[in-house]
Amino acid sequence: MIQSDRSPSGRMPVLFIGHGSPMNAVYDNSFTRSLSSLGSSLRSLNPLAVLVVSAHWLTNGTRVSVNEKPKTIHDFGGFPEELYTIEYPAPGADELARETVGLIRSVKVAEDSTWGLDHGAWTVLRHMFPGADIPVYQVSIDYHKPAEHHFAIGEDLKPLRERGVLIIGSGNIVHNLYTVDYDEHAQPFPWAIEFDEIVKSALLRRDFETLVDYPGLGNTAMMAIPTNDHYLPMLYSLGAADREEALSFTHEEIQNGSISMRCFRIG
Ligand code: ZN
Repeated sequence: MIQSDRSPSGRMPVLFIGHGSPMNAVYDNSFTRSLSSLGSSLRSLNPLAVLVVSAHWLTNGTRVSVNEKPKTIHDFGGFPEELYTIEYPAPGADELARETVGLIRSVKVAEDSTWGLDHGAWTVLRHMFPGADIPVYQVSIDYHKPAEHHFAIGEDLKPLRERGVLIIGSGNIVHNLYTVDYDEHAQPFPWAIEFDEIVKSALLRRDFETLVDYPGLGNTAMMAIPTNDHYLPMLYSLGAADREEALSFTHEEIQNGSISMRCFRIG
């Protein structure tokens, strides 16, 4: 249920967060500290709820999670035991989730009560809102649809910002697991830096068309996005944004050689 004592102040910004390795959930590094300070500044806006579009909820068709108490999903393998014991006990936002189902007009959407919070959501939110007191729900990514489709759903979600919903796309602009180096101090690959900079400058120009049509960005795009599961969440964030809004980068870094941790806030 939505807490009635919250009164959001104005239109919420929209975020894109590069989440990277699940280990960031337990690290204290420049990325996690940037999340903490971002969360502190957003808390003053009193978000009514958080809606996450995560790279880790890929479905056939689009779904909205409707849960009073979403479970914490440990959807990864081969990491230290402590990562599997972490819970993020935020309440769900079932009323807003049902409202969201009605709001998405570009495709048919289904309610889903089986999903909870995957690691694209909770590894980030536990740094941003450690009290886990803001309701959270998710919208899935239909992995069979083209890039324009995801941007269009982001546009459908835009009115939620007026309702006090903080929309977060959670993925990575550069995400190549074939070349990843799990050394914490790995040097970034030149092509990873290059593509990250291309996206940065397109964002600064508000050239959303180029970012939707990313295969046109050439060879570095092929290296940076060998599969587009981590890129697509950004298109939801861009769809929910207006081009005249302020954009700021809240973190810039390439971790593990081939994972861009670039995060931004619009509005
Ligand atoms: Zn991921």
